[in-house]
Amino acid sequence: EESEKKLYRMAYYDALTGLPNKEMLTYSLNCAIEATKRNAGLIGVIYIDLDNFKSVNDTMGHSAGDTVLKQMASRLSSCLRGEDTVSRFGGDEFLMMVGNIKNPDDLKIITDRIMAVFKHPFSVQDIEYFITASVGVAVYPYDGEDSETLIKNADIATYSAKSNGKNMCVYCTTDMKNDIMQKLRLTNSMYRALDRNEFFLNYQPQIKAETKEIIGFEALLRWRNNEFGMIRPDVFIPIAEQTGLIRSIGLWVFKTACEQFKIFESIFSKELCMSINLSLEQLKDNNIADKIHRIISEVGVDPNKLEIEITESTVFNEDPSVLQRLKDIKSLGLSISIDDFGKGYSSMSRLKTFPIDSLKIDMDFVHGISSKSQKDQALIYSIIQLAKSLNIAVVAEGVETEEQFIYLKENGCDMIQGYYFYKPMAASDIESLLTRD
Ligand code: C2E
Ligand code: CA
Ligand code: CA
Repeated sequence: EESEKKLYRMAYYDALTGLPNKEMLTYSLNCAIEATKRNAGLIGVIYIDLDNFKSVNDTMGHSAGDTVLKQMASRLSSCLRGEDTVSRFGGDEFLMMVGNIKNPDDLKIITDRIMAVFKHPFSVQDIEYFITASVGVAVYPYDGEDSETLIKNADIATYSAKSNGKNMCVYCTTDMKNDIMQKLRLTNSMYRALDRNEFFLNYQPQIKAETKEIIGFEALLRWRNNEFGMIRPDVFIPIAEQTGLIRSIGLWVFKTACEQFKIFESIFSKELCMSINLSLEQLKDNNIADKIHRIISEVGVDPNKLEIEITESTVFNEDPSVLQRLKDIKSLGLSISIDDFGKGYSSMSRLKTFPIDSLKIDMDFVHGISSKSQKDQALIYSIIQLAKSLNIAVVAEGVETEEQFIYLKENGCDMIQGYYFYKPMAASDIESLLTRD
């Protein structure tokens, strides 16, 4: 009998905190839902995700982390009434079920009490720690009529709390649920988009500042779907990155841009180059350099005329294998350009040691020129000087006015890309543009 009890505890309770675990909470929630169906009450499902718990573990060690979790468990338990349940749901996540609520204001009192838990420090080995949490709330029956949906929607609200700056409590809303549904539908369509030929590329000319002649293009991905119409890259590319679909889509982009580039070259007798964007996710693929190499030889394009654009966060990524892959790609003959330079955080020492060929000044600085912002001008001037002294070429993008163009040109910016000269265009439009010249 003793060992049976022990097994039961192991199956339904968390060993560290003694709280019910996920299975137990789900079971209790299902029971509460059944009971509430008959009395028209509400149930609150509260997801609590600690914001900075990892730093406690990292700086103080795991046993300190365990102490915090135990203190957390008892503080959270003290917020509840007898019939409610708080469970440890995962590493630093807790889930609460608050049943038998008559109106939403009563639930608000409880969530306020939960948020107050984080106003006081936790003390570990005589050191005081402030820990905050992102809390998301779903309410039965509005946000779901079964445990799975309720927990999922509480999680969605938590995600919203996190992305809005953490340390807050957010109730699930219809907009939030619709956003997620829309994202889910987009994601599902994206899985079929390559096979259905829904992707295509636009090309935006880049010009030489001095002569205004076209010297290259940036390939920009476009997606047109029957149901959703044109979907903006800043909407679908993050999804493609999160799902890993960017790997296969990115290879398609690479191949298509190379093929198109050969056509541009055959029309235009002068030197040209083609820039292609590459996500960090693509550089996590061990064989990315081989795959690029294969495409280059299949299409028969000169790798010296190709350039990949990566964002700062990729170049300055801590993962040594990402850097190695960039070097592999570079040794195939391609140039490497840093996109949106100045926007994120740049490591000057990395600029010195890493073989970068060019950098693209972030559009925000360029747009600052027209508003006569001394600071933007000073930053652009400094970026250009820095690049020059390191022998790195400078491209300005998002150039929309003559004033911006002249400032950049006079300060030594080599290349320009922007609506003032050319917008991103279909391949056929570029072809007629090149023939006209
Ligand atoms: P990005 O690489 O910074 O691309 C430049 C963006 O600026 C493009 O937006 C372009 O249309 C826009 N642009 C160009 N000139 C101007 C201008 O004068 N004014 C303004 N306001 N905007 C200008 P787009 O095409 O919407 O692409 C958005 C982002 O999506 C890109 O930013 C890039 O990060 C990503 N992206 C696009 N194609 C690909 C791709 O094939 N692979 C990957 N991984 N990312 C891509
Ligand atoms: Ca780019
Ligand atoms: Ca950019």
